[in-house]
Amino acid sequence: MSNNYSNLMRIIILVPIILFTLIILNGQSGKNKHAISNSNQNKVLKKVKRTESEWKRILSPEEYKILREKGTERAFTGKYDGHFEDGVYTCAGCGGTLFNSETKYRSGCGWPAFYDAIEESVEETEDNSLGMNRIEITCSKCDSHLGHVFNDGPDPTGLRYCINSVSMDFKPKDNKK
Ligand SMILES: [Zn+2]
Repeated sequence: MSNNYSNLMRIIILVPIILFTLIILNGQSGKNKHAISNSNQNKVLKKVKRTESEWKRILSPEEYKILREKGTERAFTGKYDGHFEDGVYTCAGCGGTLFNSETKYRSGCGWPAFYDAIEESVEETEDNSLGMNRIEITCSKCDSHLGHVFNDGPDPTGLRYCINSVSMDFKPKDNKK
């Protein structure tokens, strides 16, 4: 009898809580949808535009050569080639996030390699310079040159984002917040 009574009490208490939670969640999901469409709009508006002299002032000569003049660091010399810590790689030009450390792998090609980029962080452009047919990768926020993407990467994407260390900064996982 007392068991039945406590079950009844549980139902009486739980039903309003569940209903209340559902109402709150419903309101939240509507809010989130709104926030997402807003942040997408902001992304388009928030392209980082700088003049060449501004870039020259902000970047080191080495960074300027690679990020703004599409240079390439010498193979096996970059600080992130053999770097395997947990965190996020960001754009050296604007600080935008580019690659998660979980997607970095040892390609042996001499440059940091990733099999995937963070969604909407990079843009692809056909690059036929130097007599090669390649896909150039640039930062979607500030259009800085990062590297190239090739079709010889590992699963699950089969892609190899071959990126200059100079084009990136690294944020360890603990400081990500
Ligand atoms: Zn950038």
